[in-house]
Formats: sequence, structure tokens, C-alpha cells
Amino acid sequence: NNLAANFTTIRVLGEGGFGIVKLVKSRQDGQLFAVKSFKQTSNTVQALQLAEKEIALLKTLAHPNIVGFHGMGFDQKERYIILEYCAGGDLRSMIHDAASQRKPIPHHRIQSIFCQMLLALHYCHHSYKGLRHTLLHRDLKPENVLLNAAGQVKLADFGLAKVMANGLTVTTSFVGTSGYLPPELVAGQPYDHKADIFNLGCILFELCTLRIPNHALRGVQRAREFLLPAGHSAQMNSLVPMLLSIEPARRPSTSDLLASPVIACWLQMPW
Ligand code: ADP
Ligand code: MG
Ligand code: MG
Repeated sequence: NNLAANFTTIRVLGEGGFGIVKLVKSRQDGQLFAVKSFKQTSNTVQALQLAEKEIALLKTLAHPNIVGFHGMGFDQKERYIILEYCAGGDLRSMIHDAASQRKPIPHHRIQSIFCQMLLALHYCHHSYKGLRHTLLHRDLKPENVLLNAAGQVKLADFGLAKVMANGLTVTTSFVGTSGYLPPELVAGQPYDHKADIFNLGCILFELCTLRIPNHALRGVQRAREFLLPAGHSAQMNSLVPMLLSIEPARRPSTSDLLASPVIACWLQMPW
């Protein structure tokens, strides 16, 4: 089950806190895939457990806006996952490129990306394993949202995701990435699917402003921090602060969002 026997490695695609992802080509049919292998950390047992958890979850997910799972294996005792290759890279690079070229991301593109992230998240929150379960992603940020060659959104990195019975809130585990932590997590309070909604708001804010929303760490919310550059629609200007509400209960759920006329309109646009 040696990787090199079946694939040739082309280049490194990216690296996160846990994994290193490489572009590979199948020796058999020339098809391209992304292979994620897990870094050897100081705590090998824990790293392996995380890898197994991510694999177990990925296997059960099937949605056009979630990165496809194509298999797994061991290579010299290192766990690897074979994933659908997302040639468009991640939203972090898209935001970075737009910022360095001082070229805002077109509004219709932001709306399209938002709707596709919303559909993927709705699947996780409400359709995954039926209505009685909720899958929290818990690590939504631009580096974990990928694009395929056609520019279609593929939600990725389920390494910190957690399945819970509906209605239950997660109280104990403090996970996520600093800078994106929802206020309830920072305050050490229980959290639920609304934590993902906050992160969805963070990404939307970044796509619109090319800046990271920095109020989360301070736990204060002032309206002017959410001001979007001129030219954004009234709908966008009201959506962003709603998603970033300090109070989780004030944030809309994915169902609320999909039922809103604004999102319904965005979903019907010809992308
Ligand atoms: P980690 O769990 O360590 O954060 P990720 O799964 O997020 O690892 O992958 C790290 C980076 O590798 C991503 O931010 C992205 O840039 C790149 N990447 C991951 N999966 C793919 C993929 N399927 N296609 C293209 N690039 C990918
Ligand atoms: Mg990641
Ligand atoms: Mg991860």
C-alpha cells in the first residue's frame, strides 16, 4: 500500500496545523488527487487518533460542496487520505491575492461563495445522518474552504469536526483557531451550531473587506467594525453583523438563512 507505487507526487499544495497536502497523479489513469498526510507531532498517538476521526467522518459525507473522499492508506506508518483535488486553491489565497492586487472580490462572486458554503454547512447541521444529529465543523476559516477548477466551493478539513445529538451543546472542548473563535467559546460558555455560523460570518466579512474581523477576541461589538466598503448592498450590510452577533441566539441558523428572501434570490442567480 505504498503511495509511490500508485501515485507520482507533483507538488505541495498546502500545509495546516495537522497535515501536509500534496498534489499527486495516479500512475494507472493519470487522474489528479490531493493526498493529505498527517505530520508526526510530539504526540503521535493523538495525531493518529485525529487522523482516524477525520477519515471516519469524511467517509460519511456526501455533498457537492464538500471535498470528496477517495480512499486512504498507510505509507511508512504515516496515515494518508486521498481527496478530490481542488485546483482553485483555498479562500485564504484568494483573499490574499485580492488584497495584494488591491482588487476587491466581485460582489456576485462573494454571494456565490457564501451560498455554496451555506449549502455545505446546512448539510452538516441539518441533513447529516438525519435530523437528530448535527455535525459541527468547528474550524471554518478561509484556509479550510477550497475551490475546484470550475470555482465551485468545497468545504474541507473536518479534523476538528464533532457530531452531536441535536439539542446538545458542546461544553468542554476548546477548539478552533484564535482570531476566529466565537465569543461564547472565548467566554468558556457552551456552544452549538451557532459557533459555525459566527465563523461563516467571519469569512463573509473577510471576503467583503479583505480584513480579518478582530472584535471576537476583545468580546466587544461596535457597529462601525462591521462597516463594509462602499458599494455593498443593503442586504450584505445587514447580513454580516447578523452572522457576527455576540449572542448565538441572535445568529440565524442555516435553515433561517435558506428561508430568507435575500438568500433565495442569491441562490437563483446564474453563476
Ligand atoms: P490541516 O488539518 O493541517 O489544517 P487541511 O486539510 O486544512 O490541513 O489542508 C491544509 C491546506 O492544504 C489547505 O489549507 C489547502 O490550502 C490545501 N489543501 C487541502 N486539501 C486540498 C485539496 N483537496 N485540494 C487542494 N488543496 C488542498
Ligand atoms: Mg486546515
Ligand atoms: Mg485540520
